[in-house]
Amino acid sequence: MALTFSSSPLSPPFLFLRPIRNHPKFSISIRCCSSSPQPMDDPQTKKRVVVCGGGVIGVCTAYFLAKKGAVVTLVEKSSVACAASGKAGGFLALDWCDGGPVESLARASFNLHRSLSEELNGPESYGYRPLTALSFTITESGSSSPSGSKSSGNSKIPSWIDGSARGPRTIGTTQTTAQVHPQLFTRTLLNTAVEKYGAEVVIGKVDQVRVEEGRVGSVVLDGGRIIESESVVLALGPWTGKFDMFASMFRVYGLKAHSIVLQPKDPAIITPHALFLSYFPQVGKAMDPEVYPRPTGEVYICGMSSEEEVPDDPEQIVGNPASIAMLKRVAKNISSHLTEGEAGVKAEQACFLPCTNDSVPIIGEVPGVKGCYVATGHSCWGILNGPATGVAVAELVVDGRATIVDLSRFSPARFVGLRKVNV
Ligand SMILES: Cc1cc2nc3c(=O)[nH]c(=O)nc-3n(C[C@H](O)[C@H](O)[C@H](O)COP(=O)(O)OP(=O)(O)OC[C@H]3O[C@@H](n4cnc5c(N)ncnc54)[C@H](O)[C@@H]3O)c2cc1C
Repeated sequence: MALTFSSSPLSPPFLFLRPIRNHPKFSISIRCCSSSPQPMDDPQTKKRVVVCGGGVIGVCTAYFLAKKGAVVTLVEKSSVACAASGKAGGFLALDWCDGGPVESLARASFNLHRSLSEELNGPESYGYRPLTALSFTITESGSSSPSGSKSSGNSKIPSWIDGSARGPRTIGTTQTTAQVHPQLFTRTLLNTAVEKYGAEVVIGKVDQVRVEEGRVGSVVLDGGRIIESESVVLALGPWTGKFDMFASMFRVYGLKAHSIVLQPKDPAIITPHALFLSYFPQVGKAMDPEVYPRPTGEVYICGMSSEEEVPDDPEQIVGNPASIAMLKRVAKNISSHLTEGEAGVKAEQACFLPCTNDSVPIIGEVPGVKGCYVATGHSCWGILNGPATGVAVAELVVDGRATIVDLSRFSPARFVGLRKVNV
């Protein structure tokens, strides 16, 4: 008998690839259903893999699988990098995860980001650049007029920051911290997987993974299309938890976070410094917003998170107006160059961090289902940890074992054990 496991029945039908917004500096496109695979030795012997989810984790996995010679189809229900992978900060750090469970994943990924940037012309195609990271405190001003010339005059604080800034510390250098534009990174990688390594992209909602006698047989899309495959990688970010089978095994949930993207009138004065702030509003609790100027002159600011139900349609995720207003207040109190009027508002948005019960990503083969792999739960470090996750899953699927990092810490089997103990 064919066993199936499926996503929530309440999910909407097919969604289609939206036009990719052209960036003033970077511009790429992703072809759907490419028909130009690179020459293959013998397609019969190639491993056929369906990767579900077109966020950074699915795309990195598809890229490294295709590069290894697998026949890859990536299925995305909306558009590539439409969710957290397109709305994240894109900050990368070599050693900020040291001492924790993702240390090896983060270190390997940071180095892979550097080599991918060389391979894919990262500075031009997706804004890769090393940068300095600073932390300091900002105290909100009572005045409703734009802030100006109030910083402590400390030489560590870049001159464009004229809000009330105190206690600057350098917490990352150009050797240890870097950034990418996450949406452009994800789309560039997938574009390369399609054009150079013959991956195929299908826009459709994965509805079921069919399993027969403990083995994956195919993926069924909403609308009935069936894609035969011996291996399936589920990289659905916070939507992974909507698959019935996983819901009984582990919890993947979403933490909603907000961001705005500003375009200052005078981008040349904005220096390459990632800012990690302790922000003290006039009323209410302190916050920890993050600020990432980009090589394009844009300034990205994020913060304001809360646990909320993840809507089925990623395109339905909108920011809460009060949270967006708060981020604009933060911007105004950092710099007079970021007040409305001095800076255009390019985006007001929200997205969901994919989180797990134990705050550790879930990467590995699903216990009891041969050929079914899961890769999710990267929380606030998915853009950083995408590359090593992609290499590791590609190795696991094609070679049966990951060598780039030890995946045992991330195995979904850890939850099966827990469940048995609890019963
Ligand atoms: C505000 C914010 C700032 C962040 N900043 C950083 C940062 O600076 N550095 C960093 O490393 N990380 C950062 N992150 C974290 C990072 O964005 C995430 O960890 C990462 O994007 C998760 O990628 P993903 O591929 O797992 O999930 P997602 O990006 O959510 O992708 C999942 C994809 O699956 C698709 N999908 C869902 N269901 C189906 C289905 N049934 N069929 C087909 N497709 C489906 C969705 O449409 C979506 O495209 C940030 C996150 C947030 C929210």
